[in-house]
Amino acid sequence: MTQPDFIQASCADDYDPDSMPVDKARHFIRAYLEPVQAQESIHLRGVLGRVLAQDILSPCNVPNHDNSAMDGYALNGADLPASGQASLQVVGTAFAGKTFAGKVGSGECVRIMTGAVMPDQTDTVIIQEHVQAEGDRITFGAGTKAGQNRRFAGEDLKLGQVVLPAGHLVRPADLGLIASLGIGEVRVYRKLRAAFFSTGDELASIGQPLAAGQVYDSNRYTIYGMLSRLGVEIIDMGVVRDDPILLEKALIEASQSADVVLTSGGVSVGEADYMKELLNKLGQVVFWKIAMKPGRPLAYGRIGHAHYFGLPGNPVSVMVTFYQFVRDAMLVLMGQANPQPAPLLNAVCITSIKKTPGRTEFQRGALGLGDDGAWTVQAIGNQGSGVLRSMSEANCFIVLSDSCGNIDAGMTVQVQLMDGII
Ligand code: AMP
Ligand code: MG
Repeated sequence: MTQPDFIQASCADDYDPDSMPVDKARHFIRAYLEPVQAQESIHLRGVLGRVLAQDILSPCNVPNHDNSAMDGYALNGADLPASGQASLQVVGTAFAGKTFAGKVGSGECVRIMTGAVMPDQTDTVIIQEHVQAEGDRITFGAGTKAGQNRRFAGEDLKLGQVVLPAGHLVRPADLGLIASLGIGEVRVYRKLRAAFFSTGDELASIGQPLAAGQVYDSNRYTIYGMLSRLGVEIIDMGVVRDDPILLEKALIEASQSADVVLTSGGVSVGEADYMKELLNKLGQVVFWKIAMKPGRPLAYGRIGHAHYFGLPGNPVSVMVTFYQFVRDAMLVLMGQANPQPAPLLNAVCITSIKKTPGRTEFQRGALGLGDDGAWTVQAIGNQGSGVLRSMSEANCFIVLSDSCGNIDAGMTVQVQLMDGII
């Protein structure tokens, strides 16, 4: 790849007091993402959540034959009465999966079930509710049109048609669709590998007693959870002390074993000078102060062939920056052709929210149905960037754009659902 011109895009100077807007950072990152190329053929069940490396073409017409859309009687449209009554003789029965192989002459019809192949010489199905049946004869009036209630071969899918394009992220409905074509093996892009570690002298791992001033390392668990939902291979490298030799060793090891390296902590002003030096030595990385809350500091770049995301240390900032930057980037790297950002929905805010214009805020919110059936939302709990409890209680982000100021109760705001984001 050509070396990215990180300097130009790094928002003037790395510590320029002018922050980098969220959208600009997102676009910048997008320009340097190189999706995985390697592919593998795997059995259909394993394809869920993976990205197709091939177009799925229909190997047949679906449905394969003209067939009946209803239970009734198959007949030739020429035998339909323009007015008055008509009477036809029933010469056999066609079931789904069991065709009627005989001939259907003028004045004759065939009892037919939904999905059964249309017998030769028939083109219309009159539904059973519209006929009187007596012995082997049916009588019916006008009203049915020639060709009615017949499904055509290839109506759903035509032979050779692209059913799902390469670059598509496979969902449960797609598994069924591919199975309906009789395809059992599919070529997908290989799984992305993500390595991550937490930085900080104050961090203790689960199982260790907490010394004075220590906190348990929670970021490795939220990151693990968020990466798991994306279906990538995960390499958890534990906690690394704020020690340049250990950090350098960990960064090199991570970049050699993964496509994406994630770290948390150590990128805020003060600490960053230190990581900055190291990352500049090992690769090309920009340090941004993003115009967002929570989640201000963010580093992005390359270490060797790996993409690097230096997330903030605060537990909620880690999650917000992951959802807003890392998730979309990972989807592109996984091979997805056009990942859509998580949709924004409108909801009536039932509490007031204090907000200063100038940066995008992602407030933790509780979305619910109001008495009149309209969606309402309220900011919940303590919105501090270290308070995971309110993150755990929330079911959405209230997204307040750069330009927006205080929100009064009753105003409409935009929310982003947490469920379904990853
Ligand atoms: P930093 O960005 O390294 O200055 O960290 C900011 C804040 O987040 C500090 O209060 C840290 O103690 C806290 N923090 C950093 N990393 C973690 C982690 N892995 N788990 C929990 N808290 C963390
Ligand atoms: Mg730290």
